[in-house]
Amino acid sequence: MINLILFGPPGSGKGTQAKKLAEKYGLLHISTGDLFRKEIGEKTELGKLATSYIEKGELVPDEVTIGMLKSALDQHGSSHGVIYDGFPRNVDQAKALDHFLAEREDEIDILISLKVDDQEIIDRIIQRGKVSGRADDQNKEIIQSRINVYKNETQPVYAYYDALDKALTVNGIGNIDEIFDRLCDVIDRVTTEEV
Ligand code: ADP
Repeated sequence: MINLILFGPPGSGKGTQAKKLAEKYGLLHISTGDLFRKEIGEKTELGKLATSYIEKGELVPDEVTIGMLKSALDQHGSSHGVIYDGFPRNVDQAKALDHFLAEREDEIDILISLKVDDQEIIDRIIQRGKVSGRADDQNKEIIQSRINVYKNETQPVYAYYDALDKALTVNGIGNIDEIFDRLCDVIDRVTTEEV
C-alpha cells in the first residue's frame, strides 16, 4: 500500500510513468488532466468550465478540481494505493488532499519529482502536441503560461512535502525505461523502509 504523488513540470513524463507504475504496483492512477479531458470529451458543464482555463494554460479553480478529485477517489473505494498525477498543483490542493486522506486514516507516503529542464519540456510538449491533438500542447504561449504557473503555484508543493520529509527528486532525462527503473528503485526503497 502506497500513496504516491508523481510530481514535475508539464511534459516531464508524469502521465507516461504513472501508467507504468500503476500497472506494476497495482495502484489506482488518478490524473486530474485526464479527468478534465474526459469531461471535455463528454461535453459536460464541468468540461466546458475546465476548457476555459485549460485553453489559457491556467489552473482550473480549486473548488472544481478538488471536488472532482474527491468524487474520483470515493468512486474507487479502497485499493492498494493511489498514484496522483497532476494533483496537487498548489499548496491549497495539497492541504485539501492531506485533510481528505487523514479523515480516512490514510496519508501521502511520498512525492517524487521528475527533474527536467525548461528547454527539454518545451520540446517534448511540442512533439506530444503533434500526435495528441491537445490544443494546449500546440501553442507556445499556452505552454509558457503552464510553465509559469508551475513555477509560481505548483513548485511550492515540493517544499510543503519536503518539510514533512516526504519529497524526493529523480532525474527525468533519459529514455522511458531508464526513468521507470529510477522511479521503481525509489518506490521499492520507500516501501521496504515502511515494513
Ligand atoms: P500537463 O502536466 O502536461 O500540464 P495535465 O494533463 O496534467 O498536463 O493538465 C492539463 C491542464 O489541466 C493544466 O494545464 C490545467 O489547466 C488543468 N489541470 C490539471 N490538473 C489540475 C489541477 N490539479 N488543478 C488545476 N488545474 C489542473
